[in-house]
Amino acid sequence: MKVPFLDLKAQYESIRKEIGEALDAVLEATAFAGGPFVAKFEEEFAPYCQCKHAVGVGNGTDALWTALVGLGIGPGDEVITAVNTFIATAEAIGLSGAKPVFVDVDETTYNMDCAAFEAAITERTRAVIPVHLYGQMADMDPIVEIARRHGLKAIEDASQAHGAEYDGRRAGSIGDVGCFSFYPGKNLGAYGEAGAVVTDDDELVQKIRMFRDHGQAKKYHHAMIGWNARMDGFQGAVLTVKLGHLNVWTEARRQHAQLYGELLAGIEGVVPPVEASYAKHVYHVYAVRAPRRDALIEFLKERDVFCAIHYPIPLHLQDAYAPLGYKKGAFPVAEKAAEEIVSFPMYPELTHRQIETVVEGVKEFFETPA
Ligand SMILES: *Cc1c(COP(=O)(O)O)cnc(C)c1O
Repeated sequence: MKVPFLDLKAQYESIRKEIGEALDAVLEATAFAGGPFVAKFEEEFAPYCQCKHAVGVGNGTDALWTALVGLGIGPGDEVITAVNTFIATAEAIGLSGAKPVFVDVDETTYNMDCAAFEAAITERTRAVIPVHLYGQMADMDPIVEIARRHGLKAIEDASQAHGAEYDGRRAGSIGDVGCFSFYPGKNLGAYGEAGAVVTDDDELVQKIRMFRDHGQAKKYHHAMIGWNARMDGFQGAVLTVKLGHLNVWTEARRQHAQLYGELLAGIEGVVPPVEASYAKHVYHVYAVRAPRRDALIEFLKERDVFCAIHYPIPLHLQDAYAPLGYKKGAFPVAEKAAEEIVSFPMYPELTHRQIETVVEGVKEFFETPA
């Protein structure tokens, strides 16, 4: 039995009719760039995130960048983030003109280590970007407390955490601003590129709305130098349809995680993900730790089970960030995790039989002498 890492087709087939109708409506209205279908999605996504406002933008990287610019962060500033994130978090910091400063992560949640965050603060630090990695929120109460004490803005990178919770509070609603990606493989995925910024801040949302549309206060009146970071109409329509299914899909992911956890429990050396006591994890990624990780991935691939690694190289060891001058050994927790983590197939349409197939493969691998 084949177990792909991700199966976007299975989900499309379950909502084909609704999607067809939604796309037709956009065509009939010729509302392609921004417009009413994006506005409709924003109206529904803001309350979903327990926020006052949502602004649709071109992608998750745009969301982070426009949030940073909207908060007035730029050249000469430093922004602290976790070293084991997808590169977009750091790219957006760089694009704003600020310098990314990396910190290590917690050994069990793989999210920002609060003490490491506080230790990295300098007089140039202006903001912190906790990343809710794999679908589990970072420890937001201490992070926001430290940020407030040092006069820093807190920007949540919630690109992997649509609908995730921290003591009942939704991802994106706790910091000053929350940023989402709707890249097709995310828990809420567009059929193309899209992202959003959520916030309760009326002034900030004004700036971000202007910035995403060439700094226009009204048509051809440019109050600031902005950019084109608009979401397109088709994505607004698709996301509105898919948002209506998200809670059911999240529940399916959580059930899959529970089954994986039960089946993996007896296997020596394999460490399933841990849901923190404060968290509702939405399992964007189901990452376990396993010895002989690379050999395990190859073994499973031969059995038609496809895994991934999130992420094999922490950002401070990427060639792109060599100019920042970090050395190997700077972030031991993230570095060790990068050598041992493997992400098993995870998507709502996964079947129990498929999950059993994955775990049977894992068992067989560890029963075979190395
Ligand atoms: C996907 C992702 C992004 C970037 O989103 P895009 O829509 O691809 O630009 C940023 N941060 C994290 C943590 C992500 O997973």
